[in-house]
Amino acid sequence: MTTPYDVIIVGAGPAGATAAYFLGRAGKRVLLLDKEALPRYKACGGGVSASLLKEVFPFSFDSVVETTVRFVSYVFQNRTVTVPLKNNTVLTVMRDKFDYLIATQAQVEIRQETAVRKISESETGVTVETNTGETFVARYLIGADGANSVVAHQAGLRRGKRMAAAIEVEIPLTPAMRQRFGNKMFFIFDDVLFGYGWIFPKKDYLSIGAGAFEPRPGDVQDFLQRIAKKYDLSLENAITKGHPVPIFTRHEKLTTERILLIGDAAGLVDPFTGDGIRLAIKSGQLAAQAVVAENVRQYARQVFWKITLNHTIGMVLSRTFFQFRYSFLRLGASRPQITAAFVAILGGHISYPALMMRTVRKAPLILLMLIKQSLLNI
Ligand SMILES: Cc1cc2nc3c(=O)[nH]c(=O)nc-3n(C[C@H](O)[C@H](O)[C@H](O)COP(=O)(O)OP(=O)(O)OC[C@H]3O[C@@H](n4cnc5c(N)ncnc54)[C@H](O)[C@@H]3O)c2cc1C
Repeated sequence: MTTPYDVIIVGAGPAGATAAYFLGRAGKRVLLLDKEALPRYKACGGGVSASLLKEVFPFSFDSVVETTVRFVSYVFQNRTVTVPLKNNTVLTVMRDKFDYLIATQAQVEIRQETAVRKISESETGVTVETNTGETFVARYLIGADGANSVVAHQAGLRRGKRMAAAIEVEIPLTPAMRQRFGNKMFFIFDDVLFGYGWIFPKKDYLSIGAGAFEPRPGDVQDFLQRIAKKYDLSLENAITKGHPVPIFTRHEKLTTERILLIGDAAGLVDPFTGDGIRLAIKSGQLAAQAVVAENVRQYARQVFWKITLNHTIGMVLSRTFFQFRYSFLRLGASRPQITAAFVAILGGHISYPALMMRTVRKAPLILLMLIKQSLLNI
């Protein structure tokens, strides 16, 4: 057994790497463990807000940007509405390079190919046993080990978790595809209720994906095939990858006395957009601050006030939107404010309660437009 660390972080995705970065900067002795060899591939659209990265990190992400998105296309009922995106605010990244960049900026000890198997907590610290037969001890443990978190399971946290599902393929980008999809993000709302499909451009690949909040078996796989067919994209030889997307639905316990869950391990995926990188980063930062302050409860409180309450309203908005998605899209897809709101959500610059208040204020107008629209459709 080695000398105790201040903190052990399990998982070097954006959540764990961010926590490691801020703890290392605060002078803590940190061990960052990941079961994979790093950098590791991760199925992900890789859509992320440039302004969020700028606000949180003092270093540049330029070396790992795949595409700066210039247009967003909303696809529904065989219509495509394309809206320009200003200010270079949305980027795509490949997760292996992106996550690894954050991890390597962190001044911490990194152990790859080391999977945590067992944890035990005492009054003074946490002991971690790994597949390599080693045992590590720390005063605090941060579980950043993704949707199927071993740490959450072992700590008895998030037992009643709800999972959405998302899958994706990445196919090599041909010149013709580059012309068609090069700097556009496609969001496809046909066919799947409570979910959407996407086509996101990367430098050398096209990410084609499908996700659903309440999928029936086979739903997202069928949806993905239909998207590929619609856009004449061959999925031959493409490997479909994906993982559960945990949805944080209520005031769940994310901490014990010495263990904190962050990112997907805590279920902190947005209930409307399904994006998780932003909240992985945000929760990683909050957890680091709480550990530096030696105050785990501070993390639980901050997550409640900054994320849980927002998600509760977000869930209501999400259900309403997806239930009536075609009406909302017919009404709003071409309006620049809608895309601006989407970008603000991705950057964490607008809360769902604020969005709801805006919608409520405009409710009479929206109602009139919906009535007019349905009369025109008769
Ligand atoms: C198909 C798909 C597309 C998506 N697209 C987007 C998108 O465009 N934008 C967006 O913001 N979000 C997207 N998401 C969500 C996003 O991928 C996740 O929310 C994000 O990866 C969460 O980061 P994390 O650090 O919490 O966990 P992860 O990125 O899952 O990292 C967890 C790490 O823990 C390691 N680990 C696991 N178990 C152990 C163990 N026992 N011991 C040691 N290490 C372990 C893993 O190897 C991994 O490196 C998508 C998700 C899916 C499934």
